[in-house]
Formats: sequence, C-alpha cells, structure tokens
Amino acid sequence: MIRQPVITIVGHVDHGKTSLLDKIRGSAVTATEAGKITQAIGASIIPASSLKKICGHLLEKLKLTLTIPGLLFIDTPGHAAFINLRKRGGALADIAVLVVDVNEGFMPQTLESIEILKNDKTPFIIAANKIDLINGWQTDMTVPLLKNIEQQHERIRQLFDTKLYEAVGKLYELGFQAERFDRVSDYKKQLAIVPVSAFTGEGIPELLMVLTGLAQRFLEQQLQIVQGYAKGTILEVKEEKGFGTTVDAIVYDGVLKVNDSLVIGGIEKSIVTKIRALLVPEPLTEMRVKKAKFTSAREVSAATGVKIAAPGLDEAVSGMPMRSCSASDTAAVSAEIQKEVQEVLIQTDDEGVIIKADALGSLEALIVLLREKGIPIKTASVGKINKKDVAEVDVAAQKNPFYGVLLGFNVELLSDAAALIAEKKTKVIIHDVIYHIIEQYEQWKEEKKKAMEAAQLDLLVRGGKFRILSGYVFRQNNPAVVGVEVLAGRIKSSEPIMTAAGKKLGVLGAIQEEKESVPYAEKGAQPAVSMSDVTIGRQVKEGDIVYIDVPEEDFRKMKELKHYLNKDDVDLLKEIADIKRKENPVWGI
Ligand code: GDP
Repeated sequence: MIRQPVITIVGHVDHGKTSLLDKIRGSAVTATEAGKITQAIGASIIPASSLKKICGHLLEKLKLTLTIPGLLFIDTPGHAAFINLRKRGGALADIAVLVVDVNEGFMPQTLESIEILKNDKTPFIIAANKIDLINGWQTDMTVPLLKNIEQQHERIRQLFDTKLYEAVGKLYELGFQAERFDRVSDYKKQLAIVPVSAFTGEGIPELLMVLTGLAQRFLEQQLQIVQGYAKGTILEVKEEKGFGTTVDAIVYDGVLKVNDSLVIGGIEKSIVTKIRALLVPEPLTEMRVKKAKFTSAREVSAATGVKIAAPGLDEAVSGMPMRSCSASDTAAVSAEIQKEVQEVLIQTDDEGVIIKADALGSLEALIVLLREKGIPIKTASVGKINKKDVAEVDVAAQKNPFYGVLLGFNVELLSDAAALIAEKKTKVIIHDVIYHIIEQYEQWKEEKKKAMEAAQLDLLVRGGKFRILSGYVFRQNNPAVVGVEVLAGRIKSSEPIMTAAGKKLGVLGAIQEEKESVPYAEKGAQPAVSMSDVTIGRQVKEGDIVYIDVPEEDFRKMKELKHYLNKDDVDLLKEIADIKRKENPVWGI
C-alpha cells in the first residue's frame, strides 16, 4: 500500500504560505463532492479524485496515471512547523514547497529554509508566488498557466522571465540547478519553479501536478506503508476540554488504534502511555473549510493527522517522535526512541553557547546552522527558558565570556527566568529566524571582544611624553614638583619614566591640575607632577623632555591592539621604541 506524501509549505514570512495553503484547500473543496473531503487534524488531505479534477487536462497531457491516494499538506505552514516535522534520517515531510514572493525574491527565512532542506535532503519545489502582482499582469483562469504566460504582453512577459531568472540565478549561487517546471529535463538534478498566485489561483493545478509527479516518480518506495503499529511525529501539545492534555500528531506509517500502547520521545525520558481516544474532525457536510468539531475513531491509518487523548501527555514536546506498540514492547520501543532523541540532543561541546528551542525539530535546525557557522554548543534543550538555563549561561560565561549567552529559537521566557536575566544582566538572544539569532550573536561577540580589548588596553602603560616647563619648578627634589606640558599620549601616576636618552628616572608621582589630584593627564594638559627620585638640574633640567618608560610587555600587547590606537599614539610608541632600541636593538620585537 502506498500513502499520501506529506507536504509542507515553507518560506519567508509574508511570502504567502498561508494564502497558498488556503487556496489549495479551497480548490480541493470546490473539486470535491460535498461531504467527501477527508479532514484530518493538523493536515489537509487532497484525495486523488480531487487532484484528478483540479489537474485533469495537465495529467492527461503528461499521460500521468495517479497511483498515490492523494496529497497530505501540513496545515501549519512555515518554518517552525516544518522543522517540527522530523524523523530519523531527515525531515518527516516527503516534499516541501518553498514559497518565494517573486517580487521580493530570496529573504533570510527563504535561505534558512533551503539550508535545512539541504541538510535533511528533503526534495522541494519552488512556488514563485504573487505573479498577479507583477505590474501589468493579466489573469486568465480559462487557460492553463503556460498559455496565459504566452498571452501576456511582450513587456510583461519579459519582466516575468527576468524575475524567474533572478530566482534561478540565486538558486545557482546556492548550489542548485533550477528551471521553470515545464523546462525541467531531469527532476533528479533540477529544481522545478512553478509560478503561482495564491490570490487568483493561477498555477495551483500546475503546482499540484508537479508535486504529484515528483512523488510518484521518486518517492514510491518511501511511501510504502506497513500495516503494523504506527509511527508518527508530535505536531502540537494542546489542552482540550474533556480530554485534558492531548497531542496532535502526524501518523506517517502503520495504523494507530485505541488501547494501543504509545511511546513518545522526551528530553529526559520517554512518555509511555495508552491511547484512550483518537479524535478526528467531524466530516464536513457542506462546502466549507472551517475546522469542525471532533468525532472519535477506533483507528487511523497513515498518512493522516490525528488528535490523541491519553494520560500523562503533559510533558509531551512538539517535534518528538512517537510509536504505538503492544504493552509488552514499550521498554524496547522506548529505548529505541530515546536513542533517536539523544542523537539530536547530544551533539554538544565542552565549551559553548547555551541553546533552547520550542521543539525538537527546531532545536535540530538551530544546531545545524550553528555548526555551519562554527559556533560551539554547550547545552541544547527544548522548552521554555527557565532559571536553570540562565544559571547555566552564567557558568558558561565564567569559562569563556564569548559563550556567556543564551540563544533561543522560537521560545518563550518563564517569568522567573526573565527576572533572573534582568538581575544578572545575562545575555539572551531570542528570535524566530535562526539567521537573525546568529547575526545578533556574532555582533554581540564582536562588541564584547572590542570592549574587552579596550579594557585590556586601559590597563597597559600607554606611553606619554612631557616637557618640564621653564620657570615652573616648585620643588627641586624629594620629590621634585614641576609644571609640565603633556606633548603626546597620556601620563599616569605611578608609571615609570625615562629621559629622552632612555635613562631611567623612577616613577611618576601625583599629578595635579588646578590643585586637584587627577589620575592622568593627556596631550595638551599642563599639570604639575611630582617625581620622587629626580633632582631638577641633575638627571633632568627645565625644558627637558621626559618619556613614559613603556614596559616591553605592554608595548607588545599594544602592537596587537594597534587597531584601537590613533596615529599620534602609534607615532609616540615608535619614538619610544627608537629610544629603547638604542640600547637593545630587538626591544619590543
Ligand atoms: P505567510 O506569512 O507566508 O503565511 O503569508 P500570507 O499567506 O499571510 O500572505 C501575506 C500577505 O500577502 C497577505 O496579505 C496575503 O493576502 C498576500 N498574498 C499572499 N499571496 C498572494 C498572491 O499570490 N497575490 C497577492 N496579490 N497577494 C498575496
């Protein structure tokens, strides 16, 4: 037996995922006899008979006989939904539709979706959406899409082609060969681009035809189902009146029956329970797409979406794998499932950032993209951000400040965690686009690096140069107190000083400006300074230039941090190095 391929719609926000799904569903409703629509939880099933009606002439033209029982679209389109759908060895979705607004082109979530599809090796096609918005586009629903493209005004057609080729070019940059669907010669090597409008419905039959063709030609093996116990993935965990906590799940293999044992993967350990009820939507009696109330079923077969009521589902997490089995097999199945979950959770390093996502699949996606960027991960977990996570960030920060950050993908903060974050000033980056998370992390890291280097620079003896002003000797010695002018750099109390010839003069004492002690004085200032081991007229005299005797170690560090120094600072350091090198030619090298 062959099941429906599971299809998921992904793409950048506002590119039309929801609209496209609605339009597909709408076409199916129109093409199906009232009451015959197969409703499922969390998914829309378009039966073969409807496909035949919608794509009729196209199928005939291609001599394509339908062998699949239909197409199953996951109802919650979007990034989060599609990455929730995973199973061992790749995504649960058999095929993905990547929606791209032709007028806007590829955006961050488009790229992110491609990255993950690529990682999972999920086949996908591109729906080049919103063609109706191409300036001057004429909609004609009485002819097939290709005919209508031909019918467009020459100028519009050129504009349309340009937009399509921009997509082809972008995909080429990303390592894919792509073509308009009718020009694809080898579906194994080329990605099909189907121009569509989720608004007018143009291209919908073509899109469904390409999906059907792809599934039948390449996925027949994958779509074979076994009539045994069920395998599936948790879509959502929901509170349901009268049933307590329930899970919505996609069953992609086998048969799920009431009273079967059910094992669901968990973060710490799996949930082992027994199915109390299987809920499916009430069949539609009229032509409407609205969600109906539930009715219970004794059993459901793949592929479908179903709501499961069972005790102990409170701890369930979306994205987790599930299996049904006999009561005696729960321990073995449980061990097997936990192994799968651990494969995702365990990919962590000794040192690294703390990450958190709403579901197992999203966590995996985040891991994939962080790995690609070479960002190590200390701990990865699923669920809302709690106090323990925040404490963990602090520990990581102490080990390595660059990893003292919590990266959250699609997650919420528990209020006590938020309070702790505010108190500890913990760095947290939460976003629903992984690219933004990575971007923000890298930016933060860069800023942190700069701040740390600047702080480091501040601890170094930076170099300075001053002249002892004539007529401003307030005290000859013990200590000498003189008026000076800072000629370059910065002079600071307790820094070592030397003559212009490189002779050591001890250290600089107090610095006073307007009779107030100041920690340092910069170029242009005329403070009074004290020098303990100096007698004016002996080691130095009025009018002489005195330098800060920069320690060699500090000089080397400053060379590393040169990008923070201005030209004057650098020139001064060179001057100091020249003095030092008279005695030691390799000083500071
Ligand atoms: P999603 O965020 O990807 O699910 O995008 P939506 O389906 O919510 O669409 C975003 C906006 O674009 C909505 O205002 C839609 O009405 C509009 N839209 C989507 N597809 C089309 C289309 O093909 N043509 C036109 N004109 N508007 C569209």
